[in-house]
Amino acid sequence: MATTENQRAAESMQFSDFLEQIPPGVTLEIEDLFKGATATSTHTLSNTDIQLYCESETCNGIRFFGQSQGQAADHTSTQEIFLKYFCRNCRSRFKTFALRIKKTGGVTFNGTAMKFGESPSFGPPVPARVIGLIGPDRDLFLRGRRCENQGLGIGAFSYYRRVVENQKSRLINEVATVARRLGATTEVLELFEKAARETQFSRAIDEIKTSIPQVLLIDGHNPLTLLHAALSEGLHGGTDDECLETATSIRVVLTELAERISIALKDENELKLAVGNLMRRKTK
Ligand SMILES: [Zn+2]
Repeated sequence: MATTENQRAAESMQFSDFLEQIPPGVTLEIEDLFKGATATSTHTLSNTDIQLYCESETCNGIRFFGQSQGQAADHTSTQEIFLKYFCRNCRSRFKTFALRIKKTGGVTFNGTAMKFGESPSFGPPVPARVIGLIGPDRDLFLRGRRCENQGLGIGAFSYYRRVVENQKSRLINEVATVARRLGATTEVLELFEKAARETQFSRAIDEIKTSIPQVLLIDGHNPLTLLHAALSEGLHGGTDDECLETATSIRVVLTELAERISIALKDENELKLAVGNLMRRKTK
């Protein structure tokens, strides 16, 4: 049953879905890979628009991308090609695919396609806030994300572990900034400073475990404890699938923490502004 459904899914794969959703290295049957006046006339490669995330400042969301130049298609042999797309909205962002394509025999528009790779690389966008949170280890984090997208669990876990271990002081300092804004006492802030200097992550977390601002708790849990638990779990081996699950948890917690820190600091800024405005009005 499952096989039949899989086959049906493969049969109905559109070229646009393939470009948008399928990671490199997977060969699939595409039903509209080619186009032409009739199935027997001259074919060109399909040039339907695709929808991708555009990271330009004006777009910052899903937009239509169009093919920048048509691609002639050879009826008989396997071809290795580059396909270029541009954002139809801002026209300042591009996507390039490296593909291997082959026409299926017979009178159809079908063919098989496989991506060698794409640039920017495959996968959903990484929120700017999480990049801000991990700072200098941006590249390692993005490599981890690439592994995660392709289901490489051990790889993804190893990259994320390196990021968290390298940036543990930075994470603690960010949490301390929120605590300071929310009026933490000097004693508490000193604890954060001491924790940030601590080389052992577990000991550092222990020192500040009661001082984490409530607004940063994820489902009632200390985000740093969650990260540490995930790191310890992944270290004890486990299958590639288990590592993938742990890696995803690390990314989700980091992303959520970044989001909460940003909201906490923003709320505080807005509050200050509001109080300032009220006070000025009062003195007039
Ligand atoms: Zn755009």
